[in-house]
Amino acid sequence: MQIDILTLFPEMFTGVLGSSILSKAAEKSAVQYNVVNFREFSDNKHSTVDDYPYGGGAGMVLKPQPIFDAVASLTEQANTSRPRIILLCPQGERYSQRKAEELAGEEHLIFICGHYEGYDERIREHLVTDEISIGDYVLTGGELGAMVVIDSVVRLLPEVLGNQESHIKDSFSTGLLEHPHYTRPADFRGMKVPDVLLSGNHKLIEEWRNKETLRRTLLRRPDLFEKIELTPDQQKWLEEVKKEYE
Ligand code: SAM
Repeated sequence: MQIDILTLFPEMFTGVLGSSILSKAAEKSAVQYNVVNFREFSDNKHSTVDDYPYGGGAGMVLKPQPIFDAVASLTEQANTSRPRIILLCPQGERYSQRKAEELAGEEHLIFICGHYEGYDERIREHLVTDEISIGDYVLTGGELGAMVVIDSVVRLLPEVLGNQESHIKDSFSTGLLEHPHYTRPADFRGMKVPDVLLSGNHKLIEEWRNKETLRRTLLRRPDLFEKIELTPDQQKWLEEVKKEYE
């Protein structure tokens, strides 16, 4: 996967793309990152990228020219299929694991990180393929949002996570929240690990995990049940869990 990032603050990406699994993914050639300061594409002699809003008002607006030209240059250079051009923006589609899975199937992603008051509307209307918000709050810039999306997409690429870190049973991948985890010691200052996990009985352990997955989702995110169809076993376990709270 080719990932291009258009930003006015490229240095913000150094630590995140150069650490842990995101860095290893690049070493394994599962992904290639290219962080570009779109100020370099400004055709203005002062390299300006923003201007006052028509109609007046507070804040500066990112001009269309540097961003349109930067995207055109990245698209021409790439020998990939049509890229997804993603605008980070609080007014966009709320980001989700489903969207991460969809983007992980692409060959080329271009992220546009805004700053200041916002973007010239023509960028939104005539250039981008997706608008993504990472939540209902306002950040100073799109960089942290781009990092969130990149992290969640890259970990889904084949070969990036080993078996140990597999994402298949993660919260949201299954449509539900994941069950609790425990590690040694079995008794930590009187706080004990559930007996079933020490039993060695894999069938019972699997059943406990399935039930705890349902319990956690019921107690914390019952809205998730509306989006998935439970198997007959899951329905039975969910009824058992619900009875415990009657
Ligand atoms: N005036 C804009 C509005 O009310 O919609 C907010 C602009 S914000 C201060 C500057 C930039 O931060 C945005 O253009 C966007 O790139 C980024 N940003 C802010 N909140 C975001 C969010 N929740 N998700 C993704 N990007 C966000």
